[in-house]
Formats: sequence, C-alpha cells, structure tokens
Amino acid sequence: MSRILIAEDEARISSFVEKGLVAAGFATTVVENGLDAVELVLAGSCDLLVLDIGLPGIDGYEVMRRLRAAGASLPVIVLTARTSAEDTLASLEGGANDYMPKPFRFDELLARIRLRLADATKGVTATLSVAGLELDLRTRRALVEGREVELSAREFALAEELMRNADRVLSREQLLSRVWGYDFDPGSNVVDVYVGYLRAKLGAAHIETVRGMGYRLR
Ligand code: CA
Repeated sequence: MSRILIAEDEARISSFVEKGLVAAGFATTVVENGLDAVELVLAGSCDLLVLDIGLPGIDGYEVMRRLRAAGASLPVIVLTARTSAEDTLASLEGGANDYMPKPFRFDELLARIRLRLADATKGVTATLSVAGLELDLRTRRALVEGREVELSAREFALAEELMRNADRVLSREQLLSRVWGYDFDPGSNVVDVYVGYLRAKLGAAHIETVRGMGYRLR
C-alpha cells in the first residue's frame, strides 16, 4: 500500500483529498505546515507528497528546496491556488513532478498520483479487470469483452470508481465527491446521467440500480 503525505493547511481540502485517497486504497498522513512535511519525508515515511504551496511557516517552494537538497527523490505533486505560468514553472523547476491548480477535481489528482507512483515503481500493473470489463489506467483505454470503447475522461473516472468497488453499492453522494469533486452541486442528477452513458457503452447489465441507495457494478 502506497503512503501519501498531504501537506495542506486548509482542512476542507486536506480532508477531501484524504477521504478520496483512503477510499482508493492509500494510506495517508496529513500535516498542516512545511516543517512537519520535511521532517516526515526525510524520515522515509511516505512514497509521494501532495504539497500545498501556500503553507504557514516555510512555504511549499522551500519544502521542495530542502527535500531535493537532502536528496529526497519521492514524487511531489504541488497544489497551488496560483495559476500564473511563472508559479507553475517555479514549482516544476523547484523539483515538483506535477502540479494541480485549485480548484481541482479529485479524479484528476488521483490520476496524477497513480501516474507518478507508477513512474516511480515501473512494472507495477495498472489495469482493472472486472466481469469482462477492463480499464488500462495508464493509457486510459477501456475494453468490453476485448473490444475497445471510447470513454470520456469523466466516464472513465466513473467506470474506474465502480470497478474498484465492484459488488459494493456506491451512493450518488459518494460518486459525486469522488468523481466530480467538492465543487459540485449535491442536488445535481449528473451521476444518473453519466451512469446512463456508461450503460450504453459498457452494457446495461453491468451497472445495477439499488433503489434508494445508489449504484453497484456486477
Ligand atoms: Ca494553503
């Protein structure tokens, strides 16, 4: 199990990221300032760092500088509210492997985390396979009984979430927060609409409606 350190001082965002990562099977630790992040990484207790730039004490740039100076090679994904090209460049030149401008969707962050972890540990399998459905998480290809189907990014993320939780019922709220993110209107029927799209592409029998509860992939 990969261990993800989340360095973020805004509780709303760190808990959103943490919940999603735990649901996706990761072990997580949250710290709220830069010095704690440096200490934990250098103690060797994490595989990937999700790093906010605007942290109290020392900021994310300084965290990265200290980590790289100390020889830490773990992947770092920077979260930044600053979307200017200079800040992005500064993050990447400072040793970040990737960045996410806020606000971001959880599925986008998750995809980047998986990609960076896969880069860091080449050869680890990155396909999901359930009941004749197959998703290649690196190439983003989807197969139904060996036949390729085109999925949009959101359809792919929804299929991935359902497949990772095969035979378990996922509520609309769970799917909304994991696939659409914290900025989405909870009253929206977007989940039902996308389940409809997926049924058309993957075969209606794969996704069961559980009345009053949500959806389940079989
Ligand atoms: Ca912050």
